[in-house]
Amino acid sequence: MKINYCIECGKKTFLKKLGDDFVQICPDCKRSYQDIFYTCAIIVCVNELGKVAVIKQSYGTDKYVLVAGFCKPLEKIEDCCIREVREELGLEATNLEFIGSFPMEKNENLMMAFKCNVSGFIKLSEEVKEVKFVELDEAKELLKDATIAYKVINSI
Ligand SMILES: [Zn+2]
Repeated sequence: MKINYCIECGKKTFLKKLGDDFVQICPDCKRSYQDIFYTCAIIVCVNELGKVAVIKQSYGTDKYVLVAGFCKPLEKIEDCCIREVREELGLEATNLEFIGSFPMEKNENLMMAFKCNVSGFIKLSEEVKEVKFVELDEAKELLKDATIAYKVINSI
């Protein structure tokens, strides 16, 4: 996402070449802006039986997705994974393993995919209306309408 107006003073920014790259510059306060995008965690949660968690969110579409969420400022992506699993499912995530990163075309977010083991007692957040632990093959089937989650589940 381009920053077309200065966040500090509201002036229209202009594009300037800086080194090998281009940045948006505010003509007044000279602040420079890189294009922005959000970093998110998307997590394949595996339980003691080797089954994978697929969830339905209580907002938006009715399709199955994976546990996911936005990384907060200054938060490590690993801590974001642990927090999101705890928030959405009430479970403890261990043995985090990086799967890969997946740029999300629709809103330019960078999805950082991890796999982890989960344990504890399920307590869903208000964001989640359903969780199902299923075999990997079934997860692939259930996630086939979820663009990024499908790519993630197919790469493990
Ligand atoms: Zn400015």
